[in-house]
Amino acid sequence: MNVAVSRDLYEHVMVPNYAPVSVVPVDGRGARVWDQDGTEYIDFAGGIAVNALGHCHPDLVEALTLQAQRLWHTSNIFANEPAMRLAHALTQASFADRVFFANSGAEANEAAFKLARRYGVRTGGEDKHEIVANLNSFHGRSLFTVSVAGQPKYSEGFGPPIKGIRHVAFNDIQALEAAVSSRTCAVVIEPVQGESGVLPASRAYLQRARELCDTHGALLIFDEVQTGMGRLGTLFGYEHFDVVPDVMTLAKAIGCGFPLAAMLATKEAARHLELGTHGSTFGGNPLACAVGETALKLIDRPELLRGVQIRHTHFVSALTVIGKRYDLFKEVRGIGLLLGCVLTDRWKGEAKHVIDCCLEHGVMVLQAGPDVIRLAPSLVIETEEIDEGLARLAKAVKQLSREPVAM
Ligand code: PLP
Repeated sequence: MNVAVSRDLYEHVMVPNYAPVSVVPVDGRGARVWDQDGTEYIDFAGGIAVNALGHCHPDLVEALTLQAQRLWHTSNIFANEPAMRLAHALTQASFADRVFFANSGAEANEAAFKLARRYGVRTGGEDKHEIVANLNSFHGRSLFTVSVAGQPKYSEGFGPPIKGIRHVAFNDIQALEAAVSSRTCAVVIEPVQGESGVLPASRAYLQRARELCDTHGALLIFDEVQTGMGRLGTLFGYEHFDVVPDVMTLAKAIGCGFPLAAMLATKEAARHLELGTHGSTFGGNPLACAVGETALKLIDRPELLRGVQIRHTHFVSALTVIGKRYDLFKEVRGIGLLLGCVLTDRWKGEAKHVIDCCLEHGVMVLQAGPDVIRLAPSLVIETEEIDEGLARLAKAVKQLSREPVAM
């Protein structure tokens, strides 16, 4: 039976936890996407900072299809070549010595938090289990990760949360100093808080976190699910801040759209997740790792990373002009190609309205909370695509500026 697949079907067949927009994308090339009606969009959303090399990059398509003709899956009972090659390349390119593969950011963080707990309990006894995390952070949607994230809207209503998490305000050094103690097994930080408004950490904050972890024998975990793999103009976000963690989690751009995630750790930290303590059937799948290997090769090139900085400057200057002309943005912030346009007071709380209007004008953007429009485009988006997308965004903003002020 052939079912007509339109957006209307969604509510009838899907669990109601999402509310996707009205259009259904069916094709993508580079930074352009087409919906079921053939309408074209410029993609500044990048699948929420995932499609780092745009849609259907030919080298990624080749890597995936070549692997698809060889071996799809064996499980962790066997080692596989793409996973070992990718793990080797990641350790060569970062501070880390060991890699655990997973399928999503939440799973990579789950592994990091379990590692931290085991590390703490084994080095300091049962009391050394506290994880210090930031309020308004985002680490995924498993019970452990929502408990760590300090956002009641994601963690309440599921019965008792995971205990032993201390939440402190982001970028507040004194609060961090007060929270970290000999009971702390890990401090976890997003170098740029992505979901909560594109808020970069201060270098001083990350440095102090590093010092406190060293003093108290705790692991410093950077959640680089959103900031990793070139997004900030450095291969990993920690390089931008010049502060090296013990554990780092990656997802999103490492698979460029194919589900892949990784937890990277120093040898000293990794040894605490010993035989039998953790696992995943699909983590390290050959198809995903073949894509990841090619993605890493393509992203870890000086000209690509320099290109991210150049595109940053282009975006920020144009968005600042648009924002001022129509009194829509009071600030354009962010690093590399993770950008946040903060809405003026007139538009406070209206981010969803703005992104819907942008979509109507043929440009895909994201929100980061109710007051921030987020852009996370392909790292190799062409100048013409940027200009075309910005022109569409400006038209959307012009239309919005004519609307009566919301009361
Ligand atoms: N950590 C950060 C910083 C994220 O931005 C996200 C997703 O947006 C996650 C973790 C969760 O990743 P996933 O949705 O792949 O589980």
